Amino acid sequence: MNHTVRTCGTCSLCCKAMGIEELKKPAGVWCEHARPGRPGGACSIHETRYPICRGFHCQWIVSPDVPEELKPSKCKVILTGVQGAGDDQLVAYCDPADPGAWRRGAIYGFLKRQTRRPDGRPRTVIVRVGPRYWLVTHDADLDLGEAGGRKRFRIEPGPDGRPVARLVEDSSQSGRPAEA
Ligand code: SF4
Ligand code: SF4
Repeated sequence: MNHTVRTCGTCSLCCKAMGIEELKKPAGVWCEHARPGRPGGACSIHETRYPICRGFHCQWIVSPDVPEELKPSKCKVILTGVQGAGDDQLVAYCDPADPGAWRRGAIYGFLKRQTRRPDGRPRTVIVRVGPRYWLVTHDADLDLGEAGGRKRFRIEPGPDGRPVARLVEDSSQSGRPAEA
């Protein structure tokens, strides 16, 4: 289990913005067990919640490098890390109720900074709003379009090192922990 540096409090955005295959819950729809804003936690089945929920922590929860102001319930974006093809990728899930939130204020600057590693190498940064994907680079935001059903975009380094997107069939069962 990841070490956590913060607690969710009244945030429950991942119970809405992210798809959870094990629960047959599409991205952008509240889980039937969610009670947003409920004092003491938003999950009405917290003690018996699913392993996939128990094991999930967004980057705001686990990383002191993510600023306090980027709490998902405030900025409307959930940051997750995922192992991609040959690199660790950052996948940001934006609340479909506010689909432009990822392009505003501090979260946008943060996403842009993440496209470069400290040593200068590029890092893959993906934004998802429901079924729609964007590939974010330091100088552009590329709208990849939608990947419905079990399709998803796989982002891989191209011949020149810049990321290339391919639409693939998703065979994983991992649902919630960010499928890039
Ligand atoms: S998005 Fe992050 S902070 Fe919000 S409920 Fe999920 S894990 Fe907690
Ligand atoms: S069961 Fe999982 S997705 Fe549903 S409200 Fe509880 S923690 Fe959120």
